[in-house]
Amino acid sequence: MADKEYYKLLGVEKGASKEEIKKAYKKLAMKYHPDRAPDDKKKEYEEKFKEISEAASVLGDEKKRQQYDQFGSNVFQGGQASQGFDFSDIMSHFRSGSFGDFDDVFDSLFGGGTRQRSSHAQRGSDFLYETEISLEDVANGTTKTIPLNKLEHCQECQGKGAHTFESCHHCNGSGYMKRTQRTPFGLFQQTSPCPYCHSKGELPQDSCKSCGGEGLVRKQKKIEVTIPAGVDDGMRLRVRGEGEVGPHNGPSGDLYVEIHVMPHKYFIRKDNDIHITVPISFTQATLGDDIDIPTISGNAMLKIPAGTESETIFRMKNKGLPSLHHSHGDQMVKVKVTVPQKVSKKQKELIKQLKEEKPSKSFFKKIFG
Ligand SMILES: [Zn+2]
Ligand SMILES: [Zn+2]
Repeated sequence: MADKEYYKLLGVEKGASKEEIKKAYKKLAMKYHPDRAPDDKKKEYEEKFKEISEAASVLGDEKKRQQYDQFGSNVFQGGQASQGFDFSDIMSHFRSGSFGDFDDVFDSLFGGGTRQRSSHAQRGSDFLYETEISLEDVANGTTKTIPLNKLEHCQECQGKGAHTFESCHHCNGSGYMKRTQRTPFGLFQQTSPCPYCHSKGELPQDSCKSCGGEGLVRKQKKIEVTIPAGVDDGMRLRVRGEGEVGPHNGPSGDLYVEIHVMPHKYFIRKDNDIHITVPISFTQATLGDDIDIPTISGNAMLKIPAGTESETIFRMKNKGLPSLHHSHGDQMVKVKVTVPQKVSKKQKELIKQLKEEKPSKSFFKKIFG
């Protein structure tokens, strides 16, 4: 018999992913379902539906697909291909309108990927790890090494829980059981996962010693997590797939890293601005000065104009924190004019002179115009 071109039948590339194959098949199956055929085309639709279903049953199953890629469709004539492939079965599953749970139906019909995701598979649990970082870390970003104690697939048995398996005699190795159901609308054939082998098609003959047959072992592990600059206190970063592995080969959970920003000795954070109070002397306030101000990224110069009042706030542009979403923050500097507690004899003299000095003419001019 001539080779059948399964990829062409479904209209997908040779390297197509399982999702693409599923999608292509769904589209065609909806189009060519015999229930939807016009009266004069019943036979044609049925043939086409049969063909694409056969193609999907092979390409949808990793093992069969591999064989097909290697040897062509002739390998499936006779025994092997008919296993788990029953046209009337597929037809009844796709009775018009039942495309809703297509993914489940696809997996259960064609058995593809049941090894990865049996009906028993569950997603692993998530982890939450809390970590403290400094305000400097917020400014520059940082990495944290996070120790994990998590379940992983057992290396000894590749997570299978056993070393030797035999074909499940309950379902003849297909992983699914067929059941004829009587309903008011007639007899229906139903396929359900085999409860004995959890639709794996095989049963363990021994138990792996390393994991006690669970397929999972607990392991210490350290992972590096990059914390970007500009994170907020209380923010949670998600590291995909670093939670616990799922039972029965289910997908792994995620790791969440919750950030706590420790309070700083001098700086107060308000969103991405940093607030700081700096003492200046009476003379600096009166005469003006250039002063060195600490910022989160080192010292920076701030110009204090002559005649600065106490409690004046200066904005140092872009000297605040970087932001994940908005623009860079500023540093707000509040100056506090300090009154000297101790003065030398000479200073005392000078202050006295200042006191005796009468307000200048310009001062009166300002008030009385
Ligand atoms: Zn079984
Ligand atoms: Zn094991």
